[in-house]
Amino acid sequence: MALSGGMDSTALLLHLLASDHHVTCLSFDYGQQHRLELDKAEELILLLRENGHAVTHRTVDLSSAMGLFSSHLLATGDDVPEGHYEEEAMKATVVPNRNAIFASLLYGTALSIANETDVDVAVALGVHSGDHAIYPDCRPEFYDALGEAFRIGNWGAERITFALPYLEMDKAGILFDAERTTEALGLDFDDVFARTLTTYAPTKDGKSHGRTGSDIERILAFHAVGREDPFSYVGGWKAVLEHALEEDRRHRAKALAERLTPLQWHVTQEAGTERAFTGEFWDTSLEGSYACVCCGKLLFDHTQKFSSGCGWPSFHTELDRARIHRLVDRTHGMVRTEVRCSTCDAHLGHVFDDGPRQHGGERYCINSASLTFISKEEQA
Ligand SMILES: [Zn+2]
Repeated sequence: MALSGGMDSTALLLHLLASDHHVTCLSFDYGQQHRLELDKAEELILLLRENGHAVTHRTVDLSSAMGLFSSHLLATGDDVPEGHYEEEAMKATVVPNRNAIFASLLYGTALSIANETDVDVAVALGVHSGDHAIYPDCRPEFYDALGEAFRIGNWGAERITFALPYLEMDKAGILFDAERTTEALGLDFDDVFARTLTTYAPTKDGKSHGRTGSDIERILAFHAVGREDPFSYVGGWKAVLEHALEEDRRHRAKALAERLTPLQWHVTQEAGTERAFTGEFWDTSLEGSYACVCCGKLLFDHTQKFSSGCGWPSFHTELDRARIHRLVDRTHGMVRTEVRCSTCDAHLGHVFDDGPRQHGGERYCINSASLTFISKEEQA
């Protein structure tokens, strides 16, 4: 496997050890700005050995070969951009053909081990779903094609498989996996992850300002699993977490603004109301479900919809798991009950008590602009 010194490949190593594999790790020195990650990889291997887990580890020098390439991630490039992990600027951190090169070296090593020891060998990589958008060489179809090319080009390839256990997981999922494996291996979770480096722009003493996209993704993952990251941040955990959450909010708002129509934005984000008898769903009775237009949470289905004649889609009840939030709304000289999505806080409409008695007497008066319809066929 490739051990970068970051958190994903560290978790992968634990994952393999916990399932009783003999592991050979290659770390690559390719002239990365964050070369300190290689020291972290060595610290980790030492910690594992101290705890009785033997791992073969070799650091491979690729700096002269990859010195041919241009990327902000390389020491020869410009500063690594700050911002959200999924943003355009992060593309500057792509290193041309990096994973194909790493995978080739891993594959060649795996074949050599298979031939020397007469055992089957898996090439394991810690790529995960969060990487797919920016790094095309982290996508499943890339590894399928690569595996096929290697199989065609090598004798003995039937002994080699690819193992990508995190391919469909996000970074929080990887940390959950590491909670399980550290316990199984008798290791302290924080001791392990203090020995990983994710930032693309470490300070000289090996800390991070927590501002590059890779930092933010990591910080949000630790937050999602309810942990404080044991890595040393300049300014401390609270400050970097606050910054990461703020970046995430900004990024989500930007992505939402690009996707929604002006009316959908006005209704859901500014608690607006579409004009009566104008929305897409006020007069429809198709079979299917209605979800929040912003986050996709399922809110109602067609059996809960009724024709109230008010000019907006009306529902007498909500789906149990929707748990729609209710707030007191005192605007426009009235006291009304506003309803909002419990997942993303999008404004949906109001609820009144003039609904059909046989269903509890309520009427959810919802803006079509807050909803997206999923037909029965689409759901199936
Ligand atoms: Zn929502």
